[in-house]
Amino acid sequence: MSRISLGLVKALRSQSLQARSTWQLRQDALPALLQTRRFFGWSSNSGDDGKKGDVPESTGTSESSTDERQSGRKSKRTSAAAQEGAIVPVKQDGHLRKDSSGFEPVCMALPLFGRPLFPWHNQLIQITSPKIAKEILSLTENSKKMTHIGFFLRKSMPNELPKEGEEEDLLPSAKLEDMSGEDPMEVLHNVGTIGRVAQAVPVWSPKDGEVVAVQMLVQGAGVVRLEKVLNKGPPLQVQIAQITPEEWDGKDEMVRATMNETILTVQEIMKVSSSFREHAQYVNQSLQQRNARVQPDAVLDATNPLDKLRLALELLKKELEVAKLQQKISNQIEEKMSKNQREFMLREQLKSIKKELGIDKDDGSETILQKFKERLEGKEVPKEAKEAIDTEFEKFANLAKESQEYQMTRNYLDWLSSMPWSVYSKDTFDLKKAREILDRDHYGLADIKDRIREFIAVGVLRGSMQGKILCFVGPPGVGKTSIGKSIAEALGREFYRFSVGGLYDVAEIKGHRRTYVGAMPGKIIQCLKKVQTSNPLVLIDEVDKIGRGHHGDPSSALLELLDPSQNSAFMDHYLDVAVDCSNILFVCTANVLDTIPGPLLDRMEVIRLTGYDLQEKMKIAEQYLVPNAMVEVGLKQKKAEAQSEVQVQKVAEEVEKSEDAKPQEPEPEPEVKAEPKQLKPEVKAEIETGAIESLIRWYCREAGVRNLQKHIERICRKLATKVVEKWEDKSQGTSSKDTDATGDAIDPSKSEVIELRVDEASLSEYVGKPVFTSDRLYEGQLPSGTVTGLAWTAMGGSVLYIEATALARRRSDPDKPATAPPMLAVTGQLGNVMKESSQIALLVARRQLQARGKDGFFEEHELFLHCPEGATPKDGPSAGVTMTTALLSLAMKKPIPTDLAMTGEVSLNGKVLAVGGIKEKTIAARRAGCKTLIFPEANRRDFDELPKYLQDGLNDLVAPSPSEFHLHFAFDRGLLIEG
Ligand code: ADP
Repeated sequence: MSRISLGLVKALRSQSLQARSTWQLRQDALPALLQTRRFFGWSSNSGDDGKKGDVPESTGTSESSTDERQSGRKSKRTSAAAQEGAIVPVKQDGHLRKDSSGFEPVCMALPLFGRPLFPWHNQLIQITSPKIAKEILSLTENSKKMTHIGFFLRKSMPNELPKEGEEEDLLPSAKLEDMSGEDPMEVLHNVGTIGRVAQAVPVWSPKDGEVVAVQMLVQGAGVVRLEKVLNKGPPLQVQIAQITPEEWDGKDEMVRATMNETILTVQEIMKVSSSFREHAQYVNQSLQQRNARVQPDAVLDATNPLDKLRLALELLKKELEVAKLQQKISNQIEEKMSKNQREFMLREQLKSIKKELGIDKDDGSETILQKFKERLEGKEVPKEAKEAIDTEFEKFANLAKESQEYQMTRNYLDWLSSMPWSVYSKDTFDLKKAREILDRDHYGLADIKDRIREFIAVGVLRGSMQGKILCFVGPPGVGKTSIGKSIAEALGREFYRFSVGGLYDVAEIKGHRRTYVGAMPGKIIQCLKKVQTSNPLVLIDEVDKIGRGHHGDPSSALLELLDPSQNSAFMDHYLDVAVDCSNILFVCTANVLDTIPGPLLDRMEVIRLTGYDLQEKMKIAEQYLVPNAMVEVGLKQKKAEAQSEVQVQKVAEEVEKSEDAKPQEPEPEPEVKAEPKQLKPEVKAEIETGAIESLIRWYCREAGVRNLQKHIERICRKLATKVVEKWEDKSQGTSSKDTDATGDAIDPSKSEVIELRVDEASLSEYVGKPVFTSDRLYEGQLPSGTVTGLAWTAMGGSVLYIEATALARRRSDPDKPATAPPMLAVTGQLGNVMKESSQIALLVARRQLQARGKDGFFEEHELFLHCPEGATPKDGPSAGVTMTTALLSLAMKKPIPTDLAMTGEVSLNGKVLAVGGIKEKTIAARRAGCKTLIFPEANRRDFDELPKYLQDGLNDLVAPSPSEFHLHFAFDRGLLIEG
């Protein structure tokens, strides 16, 4: 390979080594390569290409053609070329002469960087050395002919060249065109191009107007060799010799083979590289358009055609490798990047195909999906749920509307998407506010409110209420539910309530499997959907009445839901993904504790509500129930509303006054007449304290206040009816008066005050005859064998009488004592426990009697024991002492004082055991007018803890009762009877 060819290869290599983009490299090299291709007869354009010594009429490259079109200088340039004539090769020996074509062996030379000037190419070259710029300008201006300059590529890049990035400027910079400090023969490649300066545009300094640079459009005219440096300049003056490429033999096998290989390579590159293809097409086209035949001189590197081809092939092969590599990389990246895009495209296509085929769901499904997606926006869906949702989304998008699964999936997605995933309301841990809210809604209940406040305080310190289950236990209507509601408000949580009373199906809690027709999620998922936060307060009513059926055990499902160690991943059958229920605050309510499943009870914090006595009920009624009921029926306004109403009324009155002030208002508007009817009269309705008291005493004796509330509401409704009746009467009366009158517009409602009072006497008018006529079943002395017992039921405490009677047995021999075992017939709907305790009572009573030497009564009589109110089932062991006392009283024929009541469980040995519900029982006993109460010693603490007002007025309990019949078993001894 010649020195020259090596020079070019080096130059080109240095280009790629400098990390120029392949695009730039192609831009540089391709025109030359294509010209080579044409030269070797590949083009279909001219079958007889490659004739030696063909004269180029005009060269075509992308640059030149563009430039020409832009500058519109084509005609001038071609004519200039024609005028100058062909460049006749000088002798290969490099002998210098000015030939007929006007080739000047002496010219100015300029170094080029990065890219050589190719023959038959137009190139913009910028000279930034003012001295050289001025020289060039003077040359172009003075010379009649075209100015020629030799351009030689630098072997190595000067250090001062612009750095990468700055180099993006495609114009080769000739900033360092000043070569005076170097040896040009060493620094420059010795083969270069002679270029005609087609145009030179000076650049002036904005400061002093001096020429600082020049921009030239240069046309490569031929290949030349640098012979000698005449003057280092600047500008550099050199002596050059024209180089003529060697003749080539188109029939030479080597040449042809290389040629074919080159073409194949070009074709291959065109296959893999689209930009190369475009460029090649463009060049080819422009060549065809010009019908140009090109000189092989367009390639600088070699004089020998075979060498040229080899070099070109080498470059092309390299280019092919690069293109392949590039394609591979881009494929890989594309594969990664466009996966989603492709999926999207495919989906769109699938959609349109389906539409075409008529199996597309209505456009609605898109909207539905969109809706679901919108719902999920901003929610932090847990991974498991997210996966489920994504799968269902995908499935849903491809389901036909008619299919059964469509509806199912849609419902499922509806539920999944409307869960409040990771949506929490912020707890307001504010003790003061909590107290305010609790006091606002509930009278009394001081200890319960304190418990709740403690509970909140713990929440403040721990920062969460996680893992807490409260359980309010107490009779109905004592405010369990409404306290739950108040807690929710105090904490700023959403409130949801559901009852599990009589619930037999697990699905109610855990949901159905999705495969069932009409499947639904369980209550708790429904709750979450409704409240839209993951931390509501859920009130589960009647946990003591949860059932058990053949559809599994709801209480264990409830346990799963409530158990803090399980409920962080609660699995609903329908939803089928874990839902975190651990932030829900559960509050349960129950009437009794015994029927609450043990494991459930274990996890609860039980708070007892005992029920209210007369005084408390009075307060509740006066402060809460009556005002609320009045508001409910419209007899009064809520405080906040009342104020604004007053203002409205005032404004209305003022308006009317001002209207009245204008007496000569000619046209009375029709609305004005209707107006008075709209205005409500002032109502003063009141339920007197006495009425409330007798209401509680004679109508509503239960532990809670729900019945009382109902009665009060009934009274209020009746009051409302009366008010409206009166109002109507009056307004009709006045309106008829109005018409009679001479036209004086008197507002009938203005001065009117309707006053209504409910007192003790008129109470029956509103609520009918009293339900209870007496506090007691027995007035005056109790018959012997009848004892007042105290019971505690789910409805609260109550007084219960135990009646025992005996009938003498008929004996065969009246002189002989009866030996048959005593028989006790028990009636009054007693439960098993109570029946058993009646047997124990009999045994204990017999023993006591024996101890007193009065044996024989029980054996000689048929015994009957009855609890009145036989329709109500009763059970429990706490009537033990009462039964025993009744039997003893009967046997000893000693009546029990009327105001004495008792409770206590009796063991077989006559020991008295503790019982529950002391407060309720005390309240019930006081209500029944009992003054002396007998409780087991073990219950002393419970009694001592009772509020003062409940203890006041009772007899000293340890003292024997006024009767002869001493009941010393009471506190300290635990034994039933002392002789
Ligand atoms: P429970 O759930 O215990 O059966 P509720 O909570 O439904 O009873 O209460 C019944 C009604 O009695 C509610 O309207 C409630 O406001 C009212 N109530 C109960 N206790 C009180 C109280 N201490 N103060 C004011 N109102 C009360």
